Amino acid sequence: RAAATRGSWSSDSSGSSGSWEPLYRVVLLGDSGVGKTSLVNLFAGVQERDLLEQHGEASYERTLSVDGEETTLLVMDTWEPEQRGEESCRRSQCLQVGNAYVIVYSITDRGSFESASELRIQLRRARQAEDIPIILVGNKTDLVRCREVSVEEGRACAVVFDCKFIETSAALQHNVAELFEGVVRQIRLRRGGKEA
Ligand code: GDP
Repeated sequence: RAAATRGSWSSDSSGSSGSWEPLYRVVLLGDSGVGKTSLVNLFAGVQERDLLEQHGEASYERTLSVDGEETTLLVMDTWEPEQRGEESCRRSQCLQVGNAYVIVYSITDRGSFESASELRIQLRRARQAEDIPIILVGNKTDLVRCREVSVEEGRACAVVFDCKFIETSAALQHNVAELFEGVVRQIRLRRGGKEA
């Protein structure tokens, strides 16, 4: 499984020459059970998984080579579903620290799709003036017969919320590399815009 995971990545995280490079924080949001941890595990790669225990949070750092240029992402799988009164501090922290966001729902769970819209609204509220890259992800495309949210609905939602859209299957490792490469490209687009 580990070898198969690595094969899908055009990256090399072992190099230490680029320590001056910027590191971008990518925060995964979404209901529990939609596949966030599965996606991050694929991103991290089983063999070179770098689990950083930062205040008990799971974050994975990896340098990806995209379009011939290296970019380091710190992917944070720290989002928690809403619970009791204790939720607000950690959740609002998640909404503040990201340089980019991946909002995940399961195509087999309409409730998670509706949550994704709510998360987009919360994010907009928390980071009002900022143009932050956001990718809407419909995961679990392998579960064809259980699909509750069509591709068209996902795409339309992304248009309304002004973000990118991709469907993935963590189980089949389909489009997962493309997802994180897309995150890198979206981050670079914003950079270019600022400097130009
Ligand atoms: P999280 O709570 O959002 O972090 O979700 P997990 O990554 O823990 O996944 C929840 C469950 O869904 C686990 O049993 C995973 O194996 C399963 N799962 C995640 N992604 C997929 C997928 O693409 N297809 C299928 N069939 N199952 C998946």
